[in-house]
Amino acid sequence: MGSVVFSLDAELAWGFPDFASLPMDRVDASRDAWSWLVDLFDEYDVPATWAVVGHLFLEDCDARHADLDAPDGWFAHESGALAGRHDVRFAPDLVAAVRNADVAHDVGSHSFAHVPFDHPETTRELVDADLGRAVAVAADQGVVLESFVFPRNAVGFRDLLAKHGFRTYRSAGAPTGTGLARAARKIAAVVDPGRVPLVEPRVDEYGLVDLPPSLFLFGFEGRARDTLAAAWTDPIVRQATDAIDRAAAGDGVCHLWLHPNNVVDDAGRARLEAIVAHVARRRDQDGLVVETMRDVADRVLETEPTTTVA
Ligand SMILES: [Zn+2]
Ligand SMILES: [Zn+2]
Repeated sequence: MGSVVFSLDAELAWGFPDFASLPMDRVDASRDAWSWLVDLFDEYDVPATWAVVGHLFLEDCDARHADLDAPDGWFAHESGALAGRHDVRFAPDLVAAVRNADVAHDVGSHSFAHVPFDHPETTRELVDADLGRAVAVAADQGVVLESFVFPRNAVGFRDLLAKHGFRTYRSAGAPTGTGLARAARKIAAVVDPGRVPLVEPRVDEYGLVDLPPSLFLFGFEGRARDTLAAAWTDPIVRQATDAIDRAAAGDGVCHLWLHPNNVVDDAGRARLEAIVAHVARRRDQDGLVVETMRDVADRVLETEPTTTVA
């Protein structure tokens, strides 16, 4: 029997520090989407990994962060466009909502400040300091972080993840390519949902469990979504349910991911509800396992010897 894992890049406004103009539709929808997802997962008794940007654990900040050698201007929105928006810069209440949910979620990390690890100004010292800060602010609230999702999925500095106590991360998955090739692949995956991969966790050279993604649940938006949804069902629901059914019938992990702030409209909510309901149905009828990234790490590290590089 395979399993299903949901991982969420929980960031409110922290996905966009280097955007010249903020996507305010997503920023403004982010709190409601977060709360809506907590309720949805409770309704279906489905746990998820919430990879939370560490900054959101804070109550307040100086909007400068001089102790963190981040790229120039990284915190400019904090004192600029978002100066008056504490609601999307801080979220200890939303972290508490995840922890106090009926279902036992895994609270993980999406770094402290969301600086991509492949940014030209990212240094080893910055990543070390950023991860240390993420772990510390979570620990202040009694949260021990084990699961990590890289900002913008830029995998790097995995040895530092191990140093800071993480045990598992979501890796980048297949290269998405650009332009036409990517569009062609998306169309092909809709026509043949069997292309969405079930994945296998593996232990990397630092003793961490690498869990690749199967499917980003919001990679097919705009006119393409509307056109295809009119012709069939929502193409992402079609792909996800096919992969969930394969996990229920065989082996492998169906690893689905999204940002809460992707869920900005009724179509997005309908998509998520259809997918989570399908997971619950397969679990109840066929014994499909629902796990978090932390559960996967526990399962894999118990059964496989780890080869840690000093
Ligand atoms: Zn700040
Ligand atoms: Zn992110």
